[in-house]
Amino acid sequence: MDKPVYKRVLLKLSGEALAGEQQRGINNDIVNQIAVAIKEINELGVEVAVVVGGGNFWRGRTSEGMDRTTADYIGMLATVMNAMALQDALENIDVATRVQTGIEMRQVAEPYIRRRAVRHLEKGRVVIFGAGTGNPYFSTDTAAALRALEMEAEVILLAKNVDAVYDKDPKVHPDAQKFEKLSYMDVIRKELKVMDSTATSLCKDNNIPIKVFELSTENIINAVKGARLGTTVE
Ligand code: UDP
Repeated sequence: MDKPVYKRVLLKLSGEALAGEQQRGINNDIVNQIAVAIKEINELGVEVAVVVGGGNFWRGRTSEGMDRTTADYIGMLATVMNAMALQDALENIDVATRVQTGIEMRQVAEPYIRRRAVRHLEKGRVVIFGAGTGNPYFSTDTAAALRALEMEAEVILLAKNVDAVYDKDPKVHPDAQKFEKLSYMDVIRKELKVMDSTATSLCKDNNIPIKVFELSTENIINAVKGARLGTTVE
């Protein structure tokens, strides 16, 4: 099973996953490992788009007392820091990358331009999308779904801190049930913590599968080779 089963994928990395055990900030070792995995799948001929979260720095919905819109803009800026750190790690190992942001900040990155992003992918460059959708009241999961559709990616690879989707938190409940396959409606109805409902609905309406698995170099590589890992939502 050496050949990739996808031509173009969207990898969603949560901010938490980039922080590792320290839970906040950026863990360089983890970012470097992710970069190695991305390099490997890129070398297999897979076009890779990445959406990064920002939860390791900031989350709009949990910033009490602050105006929600302002808090969300801070969250979007946080994702740009992660995008730049990942770009740096990729460039250190000679992977051509571009960061595009949903909020213009030309001194730092390209603004998001769909056609240009597609062109970068076609040329084999890894495109990292920062600043989410550019709009408050959304999440980077929704940004992942949106960019995956716009890029015409075949799958969303959702690399998380847990190995699959469970009916309840497996760290708290040892009897938690693990799901191998789920429908979008299952996720919405059972309020499973895969993606928020806006993101899940967008995937459902446009039929893009989501593969949820634990973040590791090996898993990212195996996921693009079609290995049975974690949970598939489709
Ligand atoms: N955010 C936003 N619009 C978007 C994407 C993100 O307002 O399109 C803000 C929101 O405040 C969110 C924060 O950015 O809480 C960080 O993103 P998220 O919580 O999705 O990151 P993750 O949980 O994946 O680390």
